[in-house]
Amino acid sequence: MRFSGLRVFKEGLTGNKGWKAHWRDAEPRPAYDVIIIGGGGHGLATAYYLAQNHGITNVAVLEKGYLGGGNIGRNTTIVRANYMMPGNSEFFSHSLKLWEGLEQELNYNVMHSGRGQIVLCHSDGQRDAMVRRGNAMRNQGDDAELLSREGVRKHLPYLDYENARFPIYGGLLQRRAGTARHDAVAWGYARGASDRGVDLIQNCEVTGIDIENNMVRGVQTTRGAIRAKKVAIIVAGRSSQVAAMAGIRLPIESHILQAFVTEGLKPCINHVVSFGMGHFYISQSDKGGLVFGGNLDMYASYAARGNLPMAEHVMEAAMALMPAIGKARVLRSWGGIMDMSPDGAPIIDKTDTAGLYLNCGWCYGGFKAVPGSGYSTAHLLATDTHHTSAARYRLDRFRTGRGLMDEEGTGSQHNLH
Ligand SMILES: Cc1cc2nc3c(=O)[nH]c(=O)nc-3n(C[C@H](O)[C@H](O)[C@H](O)COP(=O)(O)OP(=O)(O)OC[C@H]3O[C@@H](n4cnc5c(N)ncnc54)[C@H](O)[C@@H]3O)c2cc1C
Repeated sequence: MRFSGLRVFKEGLTGNKGWKAHWRDAEPRPAYDVIIIGGGGHGLATAYYLAQNHGITNVAVLEKGYLGGGNIGRNTTIVRANYMMPGNSEFFSHSLKLWEGLEQELNYNVMHSGRGQIVLCHSDGQRDAMVRRGNAMRNQGDDAELLSREGVRKHLPYLDYENARFPIYGGLLQRRAGTARHDAVAWGYARGASDRGVDLIQNCEVTGIDIENNMVRGVQTTRGAIRAKKVAIIVAGRSSQVAAMAGIRLPIESHILQAFVTEGLKPCINHVVSFGMGHFYISQSDKGGLVFGGNLDMYASYAARGNLPMAEHVMEAAMALMPAIGKARVLRSWGGIMDMSPDGAPIIDKTDTAGLYLNCGWCYGGFKAVPGSGYSTAHLLATDTHHTSAARYRLDRFRTGRGLMDEEGTGSQHNLH
């Protein structure tokens, strides 16, 4: 079933009776070439690129709940490529390029919108750091524009420019950054993988990983044992728990990140805006809700909900930057479980057990990584070599200390996680 404007028109005229389910609801078979544990964005994208780029289709994605019910459907949908450190910058640059062709690639409307992101700075020191980051982004081949205070005002007239405590000095604009509809990304990859022969198996929790002679043999699940030549653990916030089934202790802590949405308002925020002095960022969804969030709740937990102190902190930051937001009513808040790595960068690697692979450590930035992550994890599974864009995401950097990265470009900061 292909989507097109003509098709939507025809279905509209004929009672919308011709639409089919977007993917097959498969039953588990006894054995596969590759099993992917986790039907989130990264697991589904990996399955899609395994089939599409490498012709490997004897693949199952095992999901303990329903497809898209994890963090892929809980995030604030920001897509950007503004990383500074080598290792991260080429990966996210590659991922952004894949985003830009994703709707054509999947024939699916993921509502990708390059509406631009502006990160604000509030001191001379922050502006200097921003110049450095912008130059690194341009060296990588991505776009970055330094805005003066007046330049920011032109784009974002609704901010508080009289705030003496947090004066706005300027901002860094990436025009190609933006948003996409999060669950549509999961559905689009699921549909593409299923069409190419991948089995998507929901309500199938992996409860054990079978290993013999240091070689993976398959998995135990709530729907029986399934054998496999290769198994990839791609379970985001549950990475430590699932890796422990194979005797692996990961350098990952699971933390809660909350988000909030207001009632629908007329279009007022055109960009993604990030406050540079407090934990607050915001965009407006196509339905009109203001979608915003802040920092982690700062205690390790597997509860997919947060607590009031962080909610209060985020609201305070919102009011400091954008006092008009005080008139909007918050409709909902929710939380997701973040797989925090000590240096803020992910892991895409083989393990010491033959045939067992890892994809985790996405922290609070894994949505924009979905295309790049699926692409490079599929490459690793198919060829047993690292794709160039993800070559530095090795697990052993936490043992050797070599190649540590950090989103802020400041090195490893355990205390911040
Ligand atoms: C509030 C919030 C805001 C965020 N905002 C952004 C943002 O703006 N931009 C950005 O880039 N990132 C953002 N993120 C981060 C991003 O959502 C995650 O990094 C990313 O979605 C994680 O990868 P995933 O999609 O594969 O995870 P998930 O969707 O969580 O997929 C993992 C899947 O594994 C399944 N699973 C777990 N254990 C098992 C098991 N034993 N057996 C079978 N299946 C299992 C789970 O049920 C789940 O469906 C945000 C996250 C949150 C919570």
